[in-house]
Amino acid sequence: MRKPVIAGNWKLFKSIGESTALINELKPLVAGAGNVEIVVAPVFTALNRVSDAASGSGINLAAQDCFWEEEGAFTGEVAPKLLKDAGCSHVIIGHSERRQYFGETDATVNKKTKAAMAAGLTAIVCVGETLEERESGRTFSVIEEQIQNSLAGIAPEGVAGLIIAYEPVWAIGTGKTASDEQAQEVHAFIRSLILNLFGQTASDAVRILYGGSVKPDNVKGLMGQADIDGALVGGASLKADSFAAIVNFGV
Ligand code: PEP
Repeated sequence: MRKPVIAGNWKLFKSIGESTALINELKPLVAGAGNVEIVVAPVFTALNRVSDAASGSGINLAAQDCFWEEEGAFTGEVAPKLLKDAGCSHVIIGHSERRQYFGETDATVNKKTKAAMAAGLTAIVCVGETLEERESGRTFSVIEEQIQNSLAGIAPEGVAGLIIAYEPVWAIGTGKTASDEQAQEVHAFIRSLILNLFGQTASDAVRILYGGSVKPDNVKGLMGQADIDGALVGGASLKADSFAAIVNFGV
């Protein structure tokens, strides 16, 4: 059985005060969600204070990115071991906004994922096609290339512990969600790729999240699909009541 994961990506929103206030509001609302791995990803500057605020609640902390080197002359970068030091257990890697605006490639995603794993963080590796790629019938080839290159050289046992987020770019922040069937089709394809590349154990264990305008009213249908193991949530994670309603999808 794969434990469901509901992860909130707070993007570039909220000060330290606003972030800790959100966690404090969220804690009692998700206290009963025992069988869900809850993750929130605040901005870097709020990580440590949110970690303190979340202490004992079972809410896990993720960074929204990391670098692949441990230290050195790399102005502006943050190493995975420093994220651990700040209280993170997870890190989002290769979000489409980083690919679109900051030159992230499958090659850098690969290096970051390996570095995150070496530091003991759970990597949430994002993949997804653009609208143009979907409309020209290239969804599966794009996803295949992203998965193959982003996970190249990682041992099957490592892949088993990863989280993959399938986020169709056309569904992020647009209010357009993939239908349950569209999402399941790609999730099943990703799981079959993992089977072919890394074997049965990794394919059975890897958790694949759907992301793209997940809301309290569509989470149940998505979570009812065989290969959807959770959600990566943007907009709806910025309010305690909507994020809690998503976390509590099964209650
Ligand atoms: C995201 O940022 O990963 C995301 C899925 O955003 P939204 O839920 O707002 O579409």
